[in-house]
Amino acid sequence: MDKICIDELKIYAYHGVFEHEQINGQYFYVNAVLYVDTEKAGTTDCLEDSVDYGAVCHTIAEVMTKEKYKLIETAAQTAADAILRTYSLVKSVDIEVRKPDAPIDMEFGSVSVKIHRGWHDVLVAVGSNLGDSRSYIDNGIRALEENDRIKDLRRSELIVTKPYGYTDQSDFLNGAVRFRTTLSPHGLLDLLHDIENTAGRTREIHWGPRTLDLDIIFYDHEIIDDDDLIVPHTDMHNRSFVLIPAAELMPDYRHPVLGMTTAQLLRRLEENDQYNSSRS
Ligand code: ATP
Ligand code: CA
Ligand code: CA
Repeated sequence: MDKICIDELKIYAYHGVFEHEQINGQYFYVNAVLYVDTEKAGTTDCLEDSVDYGAVCHTIAEVMTKEKYKLIETAAQTAADAILRTYSLVKSVDIEVRKPDAPIDMEFGSVSVKIHRGWHDVLVAVGSNLGDSRSYIDNGIRALEENDRIKDLRRSELIVTKPYGYTDQSDFLNGAVRFRTTLSPHGLLDLLHDIENTAGRTREIHWGPRTLDLDIIFYDHEIIDDDDLIVPHTDMHNRSFVLIPAAELMPDYRHPVLGMTTAQLLRRLEENDQYNSSRS
């Protein structure tokens, strides 16, 4: 991907853990790398087809001076988020915030934080079978839409499905949402847990009744196998209530482990179900 680079943007600001830093301030230097496809601008020679780096400098300066943060981590992340939200042609961004006068009682050149942030394409499955399921799902989706690290959210149709795993419970309402986010996979999982908790979610029986269940199905084409997060969702290919909305929102997306598209996975599951029911 092409890059637009801003080097050593000098900004006087008031970030720091110590009181004197928040009162007196000091100079910070910001380096930014904007990942942008510049081919069209390179052909048309029009600024509208690229990113105005002068405007980006002002966006960075605004973020760096509007609030006082204790940490340059926060300053860097807020700057990255502001750039990604404001300039739609920027796919991802590197930000380095350098603090050459940091309060360290030794000789040193500079300290800095370097981060990379970008937009990720995500599919989240939604489900509910307790209380006013439609409202729980609508409110959960609204909370996602209103989060400023999420954009371009599209929702599938909701379908009524029989319970899975633990079958002695009410029918489910299921669907999915697809959106872009600057959150990491674990950052997104934390947000989904917060939204589930707001809906009064408790966990008594595994696969038991729930007001709201939000599962990460896909996160770009990443394969994650952590103790608390497995992506793609381990059982999605066996669940028609996940594959139907997935095939509606992203039929051509190819499962990074199984190598089949969501439309193909759905067709395979339906064929297997037909085969099994014809034998029973
Ligand atoms: P299933 O995951 O089989 O649909 P469930 O949704 O009922 O079951 P929960 O009780 O909601 O299971 O979640 C248990 C834990 O699963 C979560 O706390 C989370 O850490 C973990 N988990 C692992 N992978 C994922 C994922 N892709 N999306 C959401 N949670 C996940
Ligand atoms: Ca689930
Ligand atoms: Ca879950």
